[in-house]
Amino acid sequence: MTNFLPESASFAKFIGTLKGSSVLVLGHRRPDGDCIGSQVAMTRMLRTQGIKAVAVNQDPVPRTLRKFLGDTPFSEPEGIGTDNYKIVTVDCADHARVGEELKIRFPEVFLNVDHHVSNTQFAEHNFVLPDASATGEILAKFFFDSELGIDQITAEALYLGICTDTGQFCYSGTNAAVFEVCRRLCLAGCNPSMVAHELYEREKPGRVQLLQKFLASFKMEFNDRVCIGHVRESFYRETGTKPEDAENFVDYARSLEGVEIGVLVEDRCGKIKGSFRAKDKKYRVDLLAKKFEGGGHACAAGFNVTIPLEEFYPDLVEEIGKHLEVVQKEGF
Ligand code: 5GP
Ligand code: MN
Repeated sequence: MTNFLPESASFAKFIGTLKGSSVLVLGHRRPDGDCIGSQVAMTRMLRTQGIKAVAVNQDPVPRTLRKFLGDTPFSEPEGIGTDNYKIVTVDCADHARVGEELKIRFPEVFLNVDHHVSNTQFAEHNFVLPDASATGEILAKFFFDSELGIDQITAEALYLGICTDTGQFCYSGTNAAVFEVCRRLCLAGCNPSMVAHELYEREKPGRVQLLQKFLASFKMEFNDRVCIGHVRESFYRETGTKPEDAENFVDYARSLEGVEIGVLVEDRCGKIKGSFRAKDKKYRVDLLAKKFEGGGHACAAGFNVTIPLEEFYPDLVEEIGKHLEVVQKEGF
């Protein structure tokens, strides 16, 4: 038996205590591949243990990720009954990330499995492993170590989380253990080219038009070390797209030679969703996002603020400037 993680035994113990309970597996707002994949995997694994489990999200499952649900029970908040649910969160750095409504409705979290360095350890039992590339990687390791059932849909869901959160096996968290886990997931039935096809070969023309507008918005700051692009509310209308279609656009801002931090700001009805992506961990963009009440990882972080884009831009540039100075002087 492989032993990927020392925490696996205690994870399996807590799963055992859920027998006889009804469980809701919650993900975060604007769910991404790792969120959906981890919810699918956790829900299915609980069900193999005879535990009544349903995945629930405040926001809908993005179009490109729907294929990965298989027959996993997935519900909107309105569809949940009134059982005395035990709550499990996956890929959520803090309790508020599940969405305000779900947080108020379910104030107590039993289990929190996540890989964000900024995780606030808000549950009764917290499995937060910031060295993991994805929550999917943590779950895969727990499942393999404890020989918890992995069917084809679970294997593909876990691979989906790892593939998307490593930027298709490019980011710094990509290491031998990640490939070992993925090898095992392939043996359990995952088909990587099918996953890649679903994720990257089903673009809608509108999304490509949205990307054109985003690329045209690029502004270079700090001697071209920072590239900031924006998406306005009107861009969605003009291209017939939705905010979920801007997923991963920020990677283009980071991809330019010489750029150290790529930034995406999305303007939605006077609210802004921001994303930071750094090429190196030393930039600690999770701390930069924290200045705007956000968080995330050293190389990938986000935030939400309520302020019009024009007013926000100077503040954003100023905070990035201060942050770059701290990185240069002190490092982290
Ligand atoms: P993205 O830029 O793709 O939305 O998010 C990048 C990373 O930062 C993800 O791991 C995400 O969970 C985290 N993140 C994004 N927005 C927020 C936020 O408002 N608060 C916190 N704590 N984390 C966020
Ligand atoms: Mn993740």
